[in-house]
Amino acid sequence: MKFERPRGTRDFSPSDMERRDYILSQLRKVFESYAFERIETPVFEHTELFTTKSGQEITENLYTFKDKSGRDLCLRPELTASVARMYVSELAHMRKPVKLYYFGPMYRYERPQKGRYREFWQAGAELIGVEDYGADAEIVCLAADCLDRLGLRYELRLSHLGIIRGLLSDFGLSEEKQDEVLGLLDRDELEQVGDFIRKDAEYNLLKNLMEKKSSTYKDHSKLLKTISSELKGYGDAIFAIGELEKIVDLLVGQEINFIVDLGLSRGLSYYTDFVFDVRVEGLGAQDQVCGGGRYDNLIELFGGQPTPAVGFAFGFDRLVEALKLQGISFPEETFHVAVIPTTYEEDTVKAPTNDKEYTVKDYAVKIARNLRKEGFSVDYDVAGHKLKDQLSHASQAGVKYAVIIGPRELEKGKVVLRNMATKEEKQVEIDKLPKKIH
Ligand code: AMP
Repeated sequence: MKFERPRGTRDFSPSDMERRDYILSQLRKVFESYAFERIETPVFEHTELFTTKSGQEITENLYTFKDKSGRDLCLRPELTASVARMYVSELAHMRKPVKLYYFGPMYRYERPQKGRYREFWQAGAELIGVEDYGADAEIVCLAADCLDRLGLRYELRLSHLGIIRGLLSDFGLSEEKQDEVLGLLDRDELEQVGDFIRKDAEYNLLKNLMEKKSSTYKDHSKLLKTISSELKGYGDAIFAIGELEKIVDLLVGQEINFIVDLGLSRGLSYYTDFVFDVRVEGLGAQDQVCGGGRYDNLIELFGGQPTPAVGFAFGFDRLVEALKLQGISFPEETFHVAVIPTTYEEDTVKAPTNDKEYTVKDYAVKIARNLRKEGFSVDYDVAGHKLKDQLSHASQAGVKYAVIIGPRELEKGKVVLRNMATKEEKQVEIDKLPKKIH
């Protein structure tokens, strides 16, 4: 019988995993350099956790199932809702801000295509408990520093949903209707927004706003001033513009490059205010590698005290793809040492280190284990290939040293240490081996 992978899933080879692990290690270093701490939450949750507020796009694509006791469960499609749930039940007592990061697989029943999978990984961060715009700016700096550390070229866009929400609210739309409109805007379905806004003047005001962009500091201030005057009378929208301006100023001061794009919307309906995303050229239709923003109502909605929060998630698989696309290489980890017996025969020799009888191969296993305990990464060939074959494999794999173990040297308590790069060989006492390898 032959089995295939479920649609939209992938297998990762050792070389894929080497790359993925390296990228994750870099992200973790940056998250931790900002004093964010890692958490984990279950891969499945109560379905209601996501149907409550995550928005139509998420709920339509849930992998749901009933367990044997009839509970409605689903595979998690994202992690912000889980973090908010965990915060309310476990972390609310912690000193604010609570700074958390996570990495793990998410599941969405989407139509698979390049860069869009049914099982994909996100690495994300959440900063909980601070309303000040300094928190929004810190989250953006964190995302930008992660991308810079990886060496990626990217485009960062910022916006503030309070501007659109403020307008829509003044046009008389309820919060649910606003969520629907934001969902449509996120999918670039501006025409359908006309069904929600009856007055042409109001529709045109919104359409005009969605087209506004700026890319330099001078442009940012000019743009924000222009829209403030265009939206005169819409108090909530003007307030949101002021909030965005503060974040923009702080990020300009930190020399972060970005675009203010008021056409940026976010499909997840718990976002209330500041939002941002990151795109990478060349990834095709699925070019967004990161999305984030402020969600000040979610924790209260999940039964906690009103608690402001801001966060983001990287689409990890897209980051991996983007790095490949931009030809960014990474240091490959390799075995440091190959321990090679010259014979796999069953003849024994007396080892002077402990006076016991060993086959050469068994003594090689002992040396390999000792070196591993000393912290070296050691390969020992259980398949028993010939010496010549093992040496050429070690050389191809970029191994630094071969420790060659033969019966004659072993009886004297020695082995041959071969520097794979220079091909230089010398006899070394077994006890001194760890010191001779570096
Ligand atoms: P979201 O949780 O929808 O804001 O998504 C955050 C990030 O996860 C996006 O910017 C994408 O990079 C990534 N992402 C979302 N859905 C998928 C998917 N189906 N396959 C791969 N990456 C995804």
